[in-house]
Amino acid sequence: MRDPRYDILFEPVKIGPVTAKNRFFQVPHCNGMGHAMPESHAAMREVKAEGGWAVVSTEECEIHPSGDVSPYVEARLWDDHDIPALKLMCDKVHAHGGLAAVELTHNGPTASNLYSREVLIAPSHQPSKYGYPAQARGMDMEDIRNYRRWHKDAAIRGKKAGFDIIYVYAAHDLSLAMHFLQKRRNHRTDEYGGSLENRARLLREVLIDTKEAVGDTCGVALRFAVDELIGAGGITVEEAKDVVAMVAEIPDLWDVNLAAWYNDSIPSRFAPEGAQEPFINWVKSLTTKPVVGVGRFTSPDTMVSQIKRGVIDMIGAARPSIADPFLPKKIEDGRVEDIRECIGCNICVSGDMTITPIRCTQNPSMGEEWRKGWHPDRIRKAESDARILVVGAGPAGLEATRALGARGYEVHLAEATRVLGGRVDREAKLPGLAEWGRVRDWRVGQIDKLTNVSVYRESPLEAEDILEFGASHVVVATGSRWRADAFGRSAHGPIITEGIPNVLTPDDIMDGAALKGHVVIYDDDYFYMASVMAEVAAKAGCSVTLVTSDDTIASWSSNTLDYRHIMKRLHKVGVKMLPSLSLTGWDGTKAAFEHSWSGTEEVVSGDIIIPVTMRLPNDGLYLDLKARAADWAEAGIASVKVIGDAEAPGLIAHAVYAGHRYAQELDGPDRGEVKFRRHLHTAVTP
Ligand code: ADP
Ligand code: SF4
Repeated sequence: MRDPRYDILFEPVKIGPVTAKNRFFQVPHCNGMGHAMPESHAAMREVKAEGGWAVVSTEECEIHPSGDVSPYVEARLWDDHDIPALKLMCDKVHAHGGLAAVELTHNGPTASNLYSREVLIAPSHQPSKYGYPAQARGMDMEDIRNYRRWHKDAAIRGKKAGFDIIYVYAAHDLSLAMHFLQKRRNHRTDEYGGSLENRARLLREVLIDTKEAVGDTCGVALRFAVDELIGAGGITVEEAKDVVAMVAEIPDLWDVNLAAWYNDSIPSRFAPEGAQEPFINWVKSLTTKPVVGVGRFTSPDTMVSQIKRGVIDMIGAARPSIADPFLPKKIEDGRVEDIRECIGCNICVSGDMTITPIRCTQNPSMGEEWRKGWHPDRIRKAESDARILVVGAGPAGLEATRALGARGYEVHLAEATRVLGGRVDREAKLPGLAEWGRVRDWRVGQIDKLTNVSVYRESPLEAEDILEFGASHVVVATGSRWRADAFGRSAHGPIITEGIPNVLTPDDIMDGAALKGHVVIYDDDYFYMASVMAEVAAKAGCSVTLVTSDDTIASWSSNTLDYRHIMKRLHKVGVKMLPSLSLTGWDGTKAAFEHSWSGTEEVVSGDIIIPVTMRLPNDGLYLDLKARAADWAEAGIASVKVIGDAEAPGLIAHAVYAGHRYAQELDGPDRGEVKFRRHLHTAVTP
C-alpha cells in the first residue's frame, strides 16, 4: 500500500465551507470539447475524479455573450440553459467523492464575440488581443455594474449546476479582473484606474460579490497570475505581492501561476518539473488560505517537498492529470512506478488551439472516454486466444504490445535493434527532449510486468520469418525515416538528387553524424524538428541558417505553446532565420531558393544542408507481407495490419493512439463507418 512518506499528500484541505479529501487539485484546463460536447467533457472530468483528484475543475467558463471566445469551445454559463450541461460533470465528479470547480471568466478584450457579435469591452479603449480587426470599448460605470451582475449570476448558476468551488479568474491575461490590474490595458482616471489599489478594486468587488452570492455553501477560489514576465506593462511580481496582501483573506483558496499560458504550461523542452516555484514561493507568507500551484508535477517526492517546504498546500495539475488521470490513486495504492508521466510536449494544448477534442501523447484514452468508451486504467479482457506478433518497438509497437498484453493476449514483440522506443529513444537524445523518453519508459516498465508478453531485441524480421512464426495476427509498426531529397509541402518533386554531397537528414544527426562549418537547415515541416536541428548545429559550434518555405518560423509550434520559446532560443544561440524561401536546389556547397512572394532567387552557401521536409514510411515489410497474402492462411495468419509511422508518419501521439486503437479494436464488434459516438442534435431549437 501507500508509502508513509506520501501520507501528507492525502491529508484533507478545507476550502471555505467545503473540504477536499486530499491535496490533489486538477486545475482548470481547456479541452476543445467544452459546451459543444458536454457528454465527452463530463466523461473526461469523471475519470479524473475516479483517479483520485480531490478537486476537478472545468476550463474557462464564459459568463456572458459579450465575453464569447468563439471559435474556441470552453465552458459556458450565459444563462440557465447552460446549467444542465455542466450539471452532468458535477454529478459525475461527485459520484467519486470529488469536488467540482468552475472557472468563471469574462475575457474582455481577449474575447472575440465572433458568435455573439456583441461589441468587445475592456478597462479602456484598445485593440482586441488576438488580431481580430475590431476594438474593445472602454467600460463605463454601468458596464462595470453589469459585469459584476453577470459574474454574480453566473456564480449562482454554477452553484445550481452543483459546483462546490467557484473561481474568480485573474490569470493568463484572459479575464477582465486581470485586465483591470494591468497598466497597459487600464488607462482609466476614475476610481478603477491609476493606483494599484484602484486597479485592484474590481477584483476585490467581484471576490466579495461571489462570496456573498454563493459563499455559504461554495468555496471561492482566486486564480491569480503572479507575473507576466513582460516588465512594467504587465503584472510584475512586486505588484502581485501588493495585490495578494490587499485581498489575502477574501478568497477561500489561492491558485497562483505565471501568465500568459505559454509561461504557465511551458513545454518540457524549455523548463523542468516544478519550474514555477521561485515565482510563487512567497504567496503563502501573505495569506493563511490554502495555496495551489502547478509545475507539471509527476514525482510524489517533488510534491511532498513543495508542501513540506511551505511552497504550496495543494498539488495543482493540468497536464499530469491528462497524461495520467489515475496519478493520485497510483500513489495511494503504492503503485508509484505505474504513473504515466506527462512528457511536456503540449499536444494536449493543440486540441484547444485547433478546436478539436483534447488528445495526449502519453494517454491515448484522453478525450475518448465517451466517444470510444476507453478508460485510462482499464481495458476489456481478451476475447480469443489469438497470438499476436508486433514488429517494431517504437511508440506504436510498444503501446500495441502493452495494451494487448494488458488485455491478456499472448503477445510477441520483435525489434530490429538492441533498444526499445524507436523514434522516441532517438529524439529523447536531442537537446531539451529527454522527457519524451517517458513514452518508452512507461511502456517498457508495464510490458516487463506482463508474463504473457515476450520481447525479442536485435530481431529484424522479414516476411518469411513472419510467415514461419505462427501468429494469428501481425502488427507492422516499423516506423519511418526522414527524406533526404527535400520533397515536401512546397516542392513539386524531389529537389536534391541522390549522391550530391553534404546532405544530412535528422536521422543522420540522431545517429551522430558530425556537423561542421556553416549549416543550412531547410524547414518545410513547420513543427519542432528544424528548430531542434538548429540547436544541435549551434551547440556543435557551427554557424546556422534556418530557412523555411513558410512565412513564419516553426509555425505549427504555436499550437503547442512552443513558438515563443523556440524563437527566443534560436535568437539566443545565434541562428539566422530566413522565412518565405522554398528550396529549388543544392549542389553540395550552395542552396538555391525562390522567394514566395517576389519570385527572386536567393543563394545561401553552406557546408552541410539538413532538409526537414517529410518522412517516408518503412513499409517494405508490410508490402512484402501483402504480396504473400495467399500464404497467410497456411501460416495461420488471420490479419496483417500496418500502424503508426509505418502507415503514415505523424506525431508520436498519432503512433501511440494507433497502437492503442489496434489493441482496443482487436476481436471487437464492427462499429460501422463512424467508429465513435458523436454529439448529435436530436432536437431543433424552437
Ligand atoms: P512508430 O512511431 O510508428 O512507433 P518508430 O520509428 O518509432 O515508429 O519505431 C519503429 C521501430 O521498428 C524501430 O525501433 C525500428 O528499429 C523497428 N523496426 C523497423 N523495421 C523492423 C523490422 N523489419 N523488424 C523488427 N523491427 C523493425
Ligand atoms: Fe503531457 Fe504531452 Fe500529454 Fe499534454 S499531451 S498531458 S504535455 S504528455
